[in-house]
Amino acid sequence: MMDFPLTLRTLFERAEKFFPKKEIVSRTPSGLFRYTYADYGKRTRQLSSALETLGIQRGDRVATFAWNDHRHLEAYFAIPCMGAVLHTVNIRLSAEHISYIVNHAQDRVMIVDETLLPIIEKVAEQLTSVEAYIIMTDKPELPPTTLHLAYSYEALLQAADATYAYPQDLDENAVAGMCYTSATTGNPKGVTYSHRGIFLHSMNLGLADTTGVSESDVLLPVVPMFHVNAWGMPFAGVWFGSKQVLPGPAPTPQILLQLMEEEKVSLAAGVPTVWLGVLKALEEKTYDLSSLRAVLCGGSAAPRGLIAAYESKGIPFLHAYGMTETAPIALVSRLKSHQTSLSEEERLDIRSKQGLLVPGLEMRVVGENGDVAWNSEDMGEIRLRGPWIASEYYQDDRTADSFVDGWLHTGDVAVVDEEGVVKLVDRTKDLVKSGGEWISSVDLENALMAHPAVFEACVTGIPHEKWDERPLAFVVLKQANSVEKNDLLDHLRSQFAKWWVPDDVVFLEEIPKTSVGKFLKRALREEYREYYR
Ligand code: ADP
Repeated sequence: MMDFPLTLRTLFERAEKFFPKKEIVSRTPSGLFRYTYADYGKRTRQLSSALETLGIQRGDRVATFAWNDHRHLEAYFAIPCMGAVLHTVNIRLSAEHISYIVNHAQDRVMIVDETLLPIIEKVAEQLTSVEAYIIMTDKPELPPTTLHLAYSYEALLQAADATYAYPQDLDENAVAGMCYTSATTGNPKGVTYSHRGIFLHSMNLGLADTTGVSESDVLLPVVPMFHVNAWGMPFAGVWFGSKQVLPGPAPTPQILLQLMEEEKVSLAAGVPTVWLGVLKALEEKTYDLSSLRAVLCGGSAAPRGLIAAYESKGIPFLHAYGMTETAPIALVSRLKSHQTSLSEEERLDIRSKQGLLVPGLEMRVVGENGDVAWNSEDMGEIRLRGPWIASEYYQDDRTADSFVDGWLHTGDVAVVDEEGVVKLVDRTKDLVKSGGEWISSVDLENALMAHPAVFEACVTGIPHEKWDERPLAFVVLKQANSVEKNDLLDHLRSQFAKWWVPDDVVFLEEIPKTSVGKFLKRALREEYREYYR
């Protein structure tokens, strides 16, 4: 058969050819903007042409610093299709980490949302490799900025070639994109994505047994485009000609609900904290969400109670697992056909697990004595390999810690049931080690979040003189003072062995979150490290 290169050009040109009238909707500071894949195609080619005029060549890194909007989606294809590398920079990182990753990646051009200019202006002096900035703004003129050299995105596009032709000879193994992931200690680690990896990952998103993205979908990626390519949704959406709804700067739950209702969104993707917020807003006001065929949730464990709450509203909840290093989709929780007749509780049990390995990847779960038995009890680390799994950290000597003998060591500890369904127990670094025994913080959090008074809960191990570590629970209530500490502990005592139950509960107004909305356990562990002393 033909040795046909799997590159992003194929995805992009399909949207141009077959779905020219399909809509992309983008929430911008000046309101909702709509256009078609025909216009999208021209502007994407113009952006490539403009970048070429600025001197960008194959292999050069071009950074984006942007929300989920139509210009960012243009950059998503304009940069890799011309052979350059799309480096999505997380807008919520510290100034120190932003300058580290931009310099480490040696980004030559940076494309910045106007609303995010102040962040980049503050660090610009440290960005030694950046030769030019392109400012994405709705206004025709360039906004005032201290950045040098600064160009207006729209002005550059106007002067550029809308028929710019993409190279046919790109190597499928060439790097198309890159994203940095946070490290527990030290600087972020870079992960690069090849054309081939993104191509196959996008195809996987289209499988009926994974997320089933199709032409008839209206996609709403709430997960940021600066984080693991918004889980690949924008790539798959363009390829399959799905309508895309991009929620723009800092969307609130109300904004998301309004977009879902008005644009008839069928598949929306975000981390659990997003869906917790949306659920709360849904309790205050009703919206017509009849078009939603599923809510896709990953990034941290989706609490069972959250899944149940959505399903009770008739909204199917799709729980998935992955990481920056896996592009990201690796596990998706769906029932096998013979499981659909199980009781509601049993079905929920399965669906709150992280799920089944998606076709195309290989997995091992390895414990102290090698591969674990599939008995829902023996714990081991998830190890993965496959065509969209990273093979290294970009120019980083920490590669050897995670990539061993052709396998990615995820650092996630799991058990596997007799059907092969994986249940994450914890991240290695989040497991609580009490008196030599392991306690899963995730299980405790899930149980707490299933309590009707609890909005969010996070459990972490705190140093303890006698037991080494003991769990401490942090809880945000839906309504302050609506429940006592002891009620919550009793709720846990009824479900767990005595020694699993946290020694105390701390009520907080908010749980600190990471740049992508996951609980920031590290911060709590630091702040409360003397709590049990
Ligand atoms: P980080 O959060 O470290 O910046 P990632 O976004 O790549 O980087 O996070 C990947 C990690 O998130 C996984 O290793 C796993 O611990 C966690 N994770 C992802 N999806 C799930 C899920 N469905 N359930 C539990 N944990 C998850």
